[in-house]
Amino acid sequence: MTIASQWKQLLSILYVALPFVFPKFSARHKLHSPAKQPTPGDLWQCFIVVARNQTISTLLHAAMISFSARSLYRFDASLPGILEIFQHVALAFLIHEILFYYTYRLSHHPSLYPSIHKPHHRFVAPVALAAQYATMTEHLFSNVMPVQLPFMILNAHIVTFWIFLSLELVQTATDHSGFDFFAGKARDHDLHHEKSVVNFGSAGLMDWLHGTEGSSNTGSEAD
Ligand SMILES: [Zn+2]
Ligand SMILES: [Zn+2]
Repeated sequence: MTIASQWKQLLSILYVALPFVFPKFSARHKLHSPAKQPTPGDLWQCFIVVARNQTISTLLHAAMISFSARSLYRFDASLPGILEIFQHVALAFLIHEILFYYTYRLSHHPSLYPSIHKPHHRFVAPVALAAQYATMTEHLFSNVMPVQLPFMILNAHIVTFWIFLSLELVQTATDHSGFDFFAGKARDHDLHHEKSVVNFGSAGLMDWLHGTEGSSNTGSEAD
């Protein structure tokens, strides 16, 4: 968990550093104007909140592994086969999409939104580091639980969990990167940050099912 989290931090820092290291390349691929970009003060505050969230979730994860009677994952010395990895990653992808969609959408309910999720919408033009800029409640229920629970249900091998977690962290960092990489994947979540009523899911499957897919014509939430 710690290694994967550091991998995400490294990727986030690379995304955030891109405008400073390669300004012309960055300007060609940035989805928002410089005026909408967060200030150095915003980025510092973001870093503090993300570091707090990762520290607490890592300690919680370590405590669960240490004290849980039933192991969270399989730790066999023999590695899982390719077919098992593929099956568990595919199933975890589906379970994650369902869990993430409903917990994330619930956090937009008017009675929960101001105290639980509104801080995440502070960045109208998100940067990768802001993927985990969230209250502790949101971080545990929307970021940690939907990733961890599928592997506890499946009793999957820890290596399979690391593979899925790494893919998931690359996706969420890219979704918040503010760049048009990977066929403009970040546009969907940017629209969520802007309008709050569309694109709640991670992969788009549940948004398609519930008709909450976003477009530039979708209305905004008055919060
Ligand atoms: Zn976001
Ligand atoms: Zn939101």
